[in-house]
Amino acid sequence: MRQPLVAGNWKMNGSRDSIDELLSGILAGASSVEKAEIAVCAPAIYLPQVAEKLAGSAVSWGSQNVNDNDAGAFTGEISGAMLSEFGCKYAIVGHSERRVIYGETDADVAARFMAAQRHALIPVLCVGELLEEREQGITDAVVSRQLDAVIERAGIAAIGKSVIAYEPVWAIGTGKTASPEQAQEVHAMIRAKLAKLDADVAAAVRILYGGSMKPGNAGELIGMEDIDGGLIGGASLVADDFLGICTAAN
Ligand code: PEP
Repeated sequence: MRQPLVAGNWKMNGSRDSIDELLSGILAGASSVEKAEIAVCAPAIYLPQVAEKLAGSAVSWGSQNVNDNDAGAFTGEISGAMLSEFGCKYAIVGHSERRVIYGETDADVAARFMAAQRHALIPVLCVGELLEEREQGITDAVVSRQLDAVIERAGIAAIGKSVIAYEPVWAIGTGKTASPEQAQEVHAMIRAKLAKLDADVAAAVRILYGGSMKPGNAGELIGMEDIDGGLIGGASLVADDFLGICTAAN
């Protein structure tokens, strides 16, 4: 049985005060979410504040990226060791904003995935197609290519120690959600692909959906057989909305 996971991706949002208020709201509601796991991925500069506030609670935290090197002359970057030191459990890798805006390639994402695991962080590996790729009917090929880049370098066993997030790029921050059937189709494809390599990994790995998930659509999406929770952008910035999704996952 896979434990559902709802992870917030705050992106480049928040301030000391707003984060304190948001986390107080999440903590107030989190105790009634017993079955689903909750996590928040904060801007790195706020991780010490998040760690202090969430210490001892059931809510975990993580980063939005991790550098593929362990230390050295990489101005502006943050290593897995640093993230681990601040108690991160998760590290998002390969978010479409990193791939599209900052040009991270499949190989870069694979290297970052491996760096996360070297430092005992659980990578949340984001995959997903652009709108034009869906329109060309190449969604499965794109998602497969993104997964293969990691499997070829890190191995299938490493996938078993990660979380996958299927995030159709056309659904991120647009208010256009994939229908439960559209999302389930890709999730099932991912699981079947993994099952060809290792049935146990395929059965155990959590595959989250991300893309305009809200309290109103979360139940139907997470109710699908292969959808094990959500990676939440916009709605994770409002405690009641985020908790509404956590409750649906529960
Ligand atoms: C995301 O950025 O990972 C995301 C899913 O964003 P949103 O929920 O705002 O679409």
